[in-house]
Amino acid sequence: MIKKPGSQSRLKKSVLEQSLCTGCGACVGLCPYQVIYADRTVQLFDCDLPDGKCYAFCPRTPADHNHIRKSLFDVNDLTPEIGAVKGYYFSRALNPRLRADVQHGGTVTALLELAMGEGVIDSAIVSSRSEDFEQCGLLVTDQIQLRRHSKSWFTVSPTLAAFNRIPDDRKKRTGVVATPCQAMALAKMKTAEIPGNSGSDFPGLVIGLFCGWTLSMEKFHNLLARYGITEADLTGMDIPAGKNILELFTAGGLLSVPMAEVDHCVRTACRYCMDSTAEFADLSVGAARFGTDCEEMRGWNQIMVRSDRGKELIELAVAKQVLQLREASAQALRELKRAAAEKKKKALKNIVEKSRSAKNLLYLKSDDPIVRRYLSVDKKRKGKS
Ligand SMILES: Cc1cc2nc3c(=O)[nH]c(=O)nc-3n(C[C@H](O)[C@H](O)[C@H](O)COP(=O)(O)OP(=O)(O)OC[C@H]3O[C@@H](n4cnc5c(N)ncnc54)[C@H](O)[C@@H]3O)c2cc1C
Ligand code: SF4
Ligand code: SF4
Repeated sequence: MIKKPGSQSRLKKSVLEQSLCTGCGACVGLCPYQVIYADRTVQLFDCDLPDGKCYAFCPRTPADHNHIRKSLFDVNDLTPEIGAVKGYYFSRALNPRLRADVQHGGTVTALLELAMGEGVIDSAIVSSRSEDFEQCGLLVTDQIQLRRHSKSWFTVSPTLAAFNRIPDDRKKRTGVVATPCQAMALAKMKTAEIPGNSGSDFPGLVIGLFCGWTLSMEKFHNLLARYGITEADLTGMDIPAGKNILELFTAGGLLSVPMAEVDHCVRTACRYCMDSTAEFADLSVGAARFGTDCEEMRGWNQIMVRSDRGKELIELAVAKQVLQLREASAQALRELKRAAAEKKKKALKNIVEKSRSAKNLLYLKSDDPIVRRYLSVDKKRKGKS
């Protein structure tokens, strides 16, 4: 009988060697043989376990995404562009002190504080910067730590390695802040049908972040050097609406880097990513896009409610006066869907260019209805031109 190749070697061949690794951390912390070094996943030893969690949980190994969508969400809420939508709003934390030191409206930090305070979860995994200014996941259990680890850093945070390291019986009492690929990995942890996976050690709450891309640490480091600064000088970073720049905040002032210079620093795996809104999270939070006043927008988020758990938390946040919600216009939702659909089309185009065949979609299945929809849009366009 031919022996099935080990999970690690399959992961190496189909993800790591294909530059599809997003650095999410889902395959790290499960065994001593796989680690993240800087933003690279490194295999220290070749384990021959055939149905390992590392392969099953990786967001870049093939899976039935349609089945996952239908198992986790109400099918009536599903949209092709942005996944399940139960509600869509602009939001910000009502506490001005919290808002003073967060990325946008502080929605993520305020919701985690509330969830912890009300006993929905007793801890949360957020992203922290190490002494070397590398991103990593951190388990926090109090408000002070949560606020200390607010703001967005656009380099990879292998947050899920920290989630894997906590005891199983604690996992469902934990909330996780996740990029879209991380939310996908968490959904696979819940649904993967492999020996030893009950799906019961899923996080109690997944707060997703919208995500366009992350930056390769090495290339970003070199970009900063060209501007005469290092990671240690950064006090924050942002991508303001409509300006086509990356803003770098430092003690010495603001640096505006044109997107054309940033583009080549984007992690290769992000070019094959179809999800911009964390479709597999309970709630997804991004920068607000409304009106023309960039500074006003910066103080707000857009938030998408996807699951019953997410809906209950938002209702609690309003009742307890933790969040201020503002009705989002139909046009804002249309704009968001349009941008999300563009990312899907672009990712599929890049995947087909990489595999050189529309029949080989790497980690995606060609019979997935969402994949079919955006691949066929591309084909129709080609037919017309
Ligand atoms: C890599 C990346 C790309 C993004 N791209 C977009 C985009 O294209 N469009 C858009 O609208 N929004 C994007 N966002 C989301 C946006 O920057 C804010 O995180 C979001 O609006 C929430 O704002 P807030 O004020 O509620 O956040 P806060 O309350 O300040 O909380 C932010 C949370 O994010 C966590 N975090 C920080 N960096 C990372 C990281 N690298 N990975 C995982 N978690 C992290 C922090 O620990 C904290 O819990 C991106 C975020 C990241 C991290
Ligand atoms: S699980 Fe995440 S970190 Fe591991 S190989 Fe897959 S994408 Fe990379
Ligand atoms: S663009 Fe996609 S692959 Fe890249 S970090 Fe964001 S969610 Fe992950």
